[in-house]
Amino acid sequence: MTMTRDEFTRNIAALICEMVIAGDIPVGDRWMCSAEEQNRLYQIGRQLIEGVWKIVGDVVTFVDGILKLSKHQYGIALDLYLKSKETGKIIYDFLALGNEFYKERMLYWHSVWDKKYGGKPMIDKPNFRDIPHFEG
Ligand SMILES: [Zn+2]
Repeated sequence: MTMTRDEFTRNIAALICEMVIAGDIPVGDRWMCSAEEQNRLYQIGRQLIEGVWKIVGDVVTFVDGILKLSKHQYGIALDLYLKSKETGKIIYDFLALGNEFYKERMLYWHSVWDKKYGGKPMIDKPNFRDIPHFEG
């Protein structure tokens, strides 16, 4: 069941509070975005060849924002990162070597998001890589 924008806002705020209370340092990033912004992200790692976007490198999304809409365009998705307690830097790549602890923390928060707040389960998907993405 998809959340309304106000439900999503209330639930994600509660999740962020839980993260802070647990001692993690959440950092909010992308929340609401336009079709143009989503399409700009879609073009990363792709090249327009004979009228079709072809993957030529590392892509960051499979949603083009035009034919397929992102939940960010509806305002019911937020990308959340964690700040490292050791370095004070934001962890942007949870899959990078050395970031296993923060990846596990994020997977834990995804399970809380799913089970307690009724957020969209993401971590059960095979090949789930978009760890910062929380969706209502
Ligand atoms: Zn996202």
